[in-house]
Amino acid sequence: MQDQEIAATPTVTICGAGLAGSLMAIYLARRGFQVEVFERSGDPRKDQAPAGRSINLALAERGIDALRGVGLHHRVARFALPMRGRMVHGLDSEPLLQPYGQSDSEVIYSVHRARLNTALLDAAESTRRVRIHFSQELLELNLVSGMADFLDHASGRRYQRPVQPLIGADGAGSAVREALARHLEMEVDARLLDHGYLELTVPPGPGGRHMMDPAALHIWPRGNYMMIALPNADGSFTNTLFLASTGDPSFNSLDSFDRFHRFMAAQFPDAMASLSMLEQDYHENPVGIMGTIRCPHWHAGGEAVLIGDAAHALVPFHGQGMNCAFEDCAELDRCVAESATWDQAFSRFQRARRGNADAIADMALENYLEMRDAVLDPGYVLRRALEQELERRHPDQFVPRYSMVMFRRIPYALAQQRGRTNLEILRKLTSGVERLDDVDYVLASRLVQQLEPLEPEAPNDMTTT
Ligand SMILES: Cc1cc2nc3c(=O)[nH]c(=O)nc-3n(C[C@H](O)[C@H](O)[C@H](O)COP(=O)(O)OP(=O)(O)OC[C@H]3O[C@@H](n4cnc5c(N)ncnc54)[C@H](O)[C@@H]3O)c2cc1C
Repeated sequence: MQDQEIAATPTVTICGAGLAGSLMAIYLARRGFQVEVFERSGDPRKDQAPAGRSINLALAERGIDALRGVGLHHRVARFALPMRGRMVHGLDSEPLLQPYGQSDSEVIYSVHRARLNTALLDAAESTRRVRIHFSQELLELNLVSGMADFLDHASGRRYQRPVQPLIGADGAGSAVREALARHLEMEVDARLLDHGYLELTVPPGPGGRHMMDPAALHIWPRGNYMMIALPNADGSFTNTLFLASTGDPSFNSLDSFDRFHRFMAAQFPDAMASLSMLEQDYHENPVGIMGTIRCPHWHAGGEAVLIGDAAHALVPFHGQGMNCAFEDCAELDRCVAESATWDQAFSRFQRARRGNADAIADMALENYLEMRDAVLDPGYVLRRALEQELERRHPDQFVPRYSMVMFRRIPYALAQQRGRTNLEILRKLTSGVERLDDVDYVLASRLVQQLEPLEPEAPNDMTTT
């Protein structure tokens, strides 16, 4: 099986029909494969999505491009809300918008996870080559025999079936990754963040209107913790409180609603009136965990490969986990098209993506500090204004790191490297400077012109037609 020819393979199996698994199924169906997808949960089109699991997500250019690759971006645009910047809510100041980019086209989109998943599942099934088996959990995988044990949650029956080649899109707690780790005797580096998250609801205001500006991602930075809010199409917002798990204040120390309410009222006073379901959310929504998973091998020969969170779970602070998982799908599809065997395709895929996944994992961790703390720092605000000014003056050569990650498809590792160079330039130019007008733009030009030009930005085609 190891060198199995791709051209002679009728069926590919995918474990997990979440965001990556369902998009991957569409890509493979378009290449002519029959695709069997096994999903532990019930069909989200019939069952209610579980509470407290990032109800909405920020979709950016990398994710959009992968949807574009299967002609789905226009469909997703119907329920995607553009966000043009961060609305920063200081404790004692009026909210202030920090634009993400230079123009109206440089926006990210708030998308409803369940709606997006539904759109992908519908599109996968409409290819007529994809069969999705819901409530089927992969329990064990034998990478020598190519057989997997599944549990049918409806009947409680356990059964075996052949699964090679297998794509593990079963998320951060991946059973496929566990089997791979055993088979290859590899160490998986899984680091849980010592902060958790709690989702809170801001229901629609009178007449179904949003209670805050819906064209922004709202942030309440508070140093060691923060709250954010993303808009939903029905006029509501989903807020997420990110806070330490232990210590004071922490999810541990806020162990009664009374304490929690006092903390929220003191730290987020301008949000309290709209958080009308606070008590219910506090009692009913789970505190989620977050972490980074790095894995030295993503595949075992041509038998199985990992994609999405199964290969590289990220903390959510750059809004890139799904975007990166979608980019994986497009890349794996390219590798399959360019390879004769599954082993070749999977190892090409790992080569193309692993360093990039490591880079975005680092940048996502760094962004937590930026969001919860730095956005209020005058030095940061000046550097941010200067990087936008430098981009205006030298659009081919100087692109802010945030824009490289969110609005471009520059490999993450290159964005990380160029981001470091940018920071050196910005620090040099702002040393002893308090206002943008006082920057030495002759020196700026000299420094920026030493940089290699970057690929131009793709036009924004997130329209409904
Ligand atoms: C609070 C939070 C906010 C986030 N915000 C953003 C954001 O703004 N933008 C962004 O790009 N990303 C964001 N992410 C990350 C994003 O949610 C993930 O990166 C994305 O869901 C990964 O997709 P996936 O398909 O790899 O995994 P998942 O979405 O986790 O899907 C895995 C699927 O596999 C199934 N499964 C698991 N085990 C088995 C098994 N043994 N057998 C069968 N099926 C199985 C699961 O039921 C699930 O359906 C956020 C994450 C969190 C926690």
